Amino acid sequence: VASATLLASLTACGDSSSDDGSGTGSDGATPRIGVILPDSKSSARWETADRKYLAEAFEAAGVEYDIQNAQGDKQDFQTIADQMITNGVNVLMIVNLDSGTGKAVLEKAKSQGVATIDYDRLTLGGSAQYYVSFDNTEVGRLQGEGLAACLEEKGVEQPLVATLNGSPTDNNALLFAEGYNGVLDPKYDAGEYTKGPDQSVPDWDNAEATTIFEQMLTSEPGINGVLAANDGLGNAAIAVLRKQNRNGEVPVTGQDATVQGLQNILAGDQCMTVYKAVKKEAEAAVRLAVSLARGEEAETNATVHDPEGDREVPSVLESPEAIFRDNVKDVVEDGYVTKEELCTGE
Ligand code: BGC
Repeated sequence: VASATLLASLTACGDSSSDDGSGTGSDGATPRIGVILPDSKSSARWETADRKYLAEAFEAAGVEYDIQNAQGDKQDFQTIADQMITNGVNVLMIVNLDSGTGKAVLEKAKSQGVATIDYDRLTLGGSAQYYVSFDNTEVGRLQGEGLAACLEEKGVEQPLVATLNGSPTDNNALLFAEGYNGVLDPKYDAGEYTKGPDQSVPDWDNAEATTIFEQMLTSEPGINGVLAANDGLGNAAIAVLRKQNRNGEVPVTGQDATVQGLQNILAGDQCMTVYKAVKKEAEAAVRLAVSLARGEEAETNATVHDPEGDREVPSVLESPEAIFRDNVKDVVEDGYVTKEELCTGE
């Protein structure tokens, strides 16, 4: 009894990550929801934003929750899911590491009567009841338009553009590419821009992105524009350019409005980033999870087609915003990062 009280008070303080599963979710009283985040290296967002905003929304909804991070390990991802199911979650929310392993996790949950939500990344061929994300093609479009705007502003003539795509196993990376290629391809076709090397970065691995971009620059020294799919990949490219004293001269894009990305923008080394209000994404996901747990209908604002499963997934899609040097303050005003973080790098 004493330990149950302690756990309850820890939950009240916002720390339920050590919750032992003794909650009341499985007996129908208080919904119990599990979340599995993918890693903490492909983007700072998962640990600094998603975990925080999800926890806040769960607290506000008064439900029990367990948020864990698979740290890029597919086997651990499966193990965490199994433990959560054993601990009696009513709803499991996942950010898959790839569609194949994500699908297996969703199926297992379903077979145990656990409702599921795809959070941020759609699991192709999966069985999640809902999908919550951003308009990811629009994210890519903003990146393409952003790069074009920076190239024009810098007066780069006949830009030679290199592309660092996200992980080929992340459906979002394909949508981002659809968005930015939709802007850039017509420029290549018109002979306005020259298409340089174009590569995917497995698992969004920033270290691998550095190696890939070094090789790109060695084979095509004239690269003077970089479409990088997120801030981590962008920072890898900027670090390589810095070694050649070319940072700031070559526009580089990003995504996620990370502290590092925003600092790179303020320093003039990065052209733009895409701010995705994770707070809204987390709140929408929690709202859907709670209604699933209570067997209630929930409101969605979109349906997303899953080409692999050939099904329409009821979804909530939020809107992204392009951030350049002159509107970094929007991200601060929204409370996503603080001025202090931007100034000290913490
Ligand atoms: C997310 C991005 C993130 C990337 C790497 C994508 O699925 O939408 O926000 O930068 O994964 O974690």
